[in-house]
Amino acid sequence: MTSPVWHPFTQHGLEQPIPLVRSAEGAVLHTEDGRRIVDAISSWWVTTHGHCHPRIMAAIAEQTKALDQIIFAGWTHEPAETLARDLLAMMPAPLSHVFYSDSGSTSVEVALKMALGYWRNIGKPRHRIVVLEHSYHGDTIGGMSVGERGVFNQAYAPLLFDVETLPFPRAGAEQATLDRLEALCRDDNKPAALIVEPLLLGAGGMLIYSPETLAAMREICARHDVLFIADEVMTGWGRTGTLLACEQAGVVPDIVCLSKGLTGGAVPLAVTMATPAIFEAHRSRDRADMFFHSSSYTANPIACAAANANLAIWREEPVLDGIADLGRRQSAQLERLRDHPKVSNARQIGTVTAMELGDPNGAYMSDLGPRLLEFFLSRDLLLRPLGNTVYVMPPYCIADDDLDRIYGAIGEALETIVA
Ligand SMILES: *Cc1c(COP(=O)(O)O)cnc(C)c1O
Repeated sequence: MTSPVWHPFTQHGLEQPIPLVRSAEGAVLHTEDGRRIVDAISSWWVTTHGHCHPRIMAAIAEQTKALDQIIFAGWTHEPAETLARDLLAMMPAPLSHVFYSDSGSTSVEVALKMALGYWRNIGKPRHRIVVLEHSYHGDTIGGMSVGERGVFNQAYAPLLFDVETLPFPRAGAEQATLDRLEALCRDDNKPAALIVEPLLLGAGGMLIYSPETLAAMREICARHDVLFIADEVMTGWGRTGTLLACEQAGVVPDIVCLSKGLTGGAVPLAVTMATPAIFEAHRSRDRADMFFHSSSYTANPIACAAANANLAIWREEPVLDGIADLGRRQSAQLERLRDHPKVSNARQIGTVTAMELGDPNGAYMSDLGPRLLEFFLSRDLLLRPLGNTVYVMPPYCIADDDLDRIYGAIGEALETIVA
């Protein structure tokens, strides 16, 4: 019987197998047909401490006994109040206000709306958004508008709004990026905001750029009074080696988007955090100035309880030590492949490694991607290349044996699959 389920980023016409997962723990998935699959990409970059973390599961179970859901416009609840206070304690000042939503894409939409609302409400309307080449900020219309244009959004291109795009700051070519940003900021038609994925561009191909460049972009924005939005949806919660990637550049954004690892990857939740100036621009006696955004499940109490458990794990357990350890283990594994003649641009930041297999300029739609995906699945690995870019982004708790299996399989693919 064929399933009525329509899957995301899945070409159903290719009749690829769709494994049914029964349970998971740590970095391991168990399928209906009894296979033990290693989750090498943290279930699409969300799982940080590991699947079904006991503290997070317990917090969810506990919260279900008290309060499931409550409208958040004009109402509040303890899990959301606690989470907002504890987020402020963890995140750098002057980030001072926490707006809840339920996905990374939505947190980006909220960030863009906050930026435009800020400029409107202080009486200096601005509408231009500056973005980085190869960015990914989600699949909603606004998220796609500020992201890289390509085959993924061709059908919707006429509806996407125009943005100004900075060239990606390739090593050695950073000045071109900074010069373009400086020029845009000096323009009479000033940008409202720059939005970036700090240090690591995820869906755009796991592209890494330097903390110095991130700091320089932030400095230009500050000097020209252009809002700086950091989309830390993927980079946040330790992925790049620090709680936020911005930390490595000593950068504090005006607006930061967090989701994915916010609940440890257990349930959907997102926040957009902003500075006092942005909040104050929306606070007045005039109802027309309020921030016009909500979704039905804004700040769902069960999701907030999961996030509170995640924050407790960060506070009480040696999470950063585990991340540093995974970084070292990843680095040792990458060394095995770095000099292979079919591997190029082997790179790493924090817990993430990436490399191109075969043609270093292979496109996202090259048929190598699906063949690799199928091969890795046959080796009981959840590893989902971006075109011919293979990356490894496991839950922090992954065992050495499982990491060995991942890199062993990449090595095997190099001999059998990659031309
Ligand atoms: C995943 C991702 C998003 C979108 O998050 P969703 O929860 O999938 O909507 C936005 N920005 C970045 C940088 C991401 O990696």
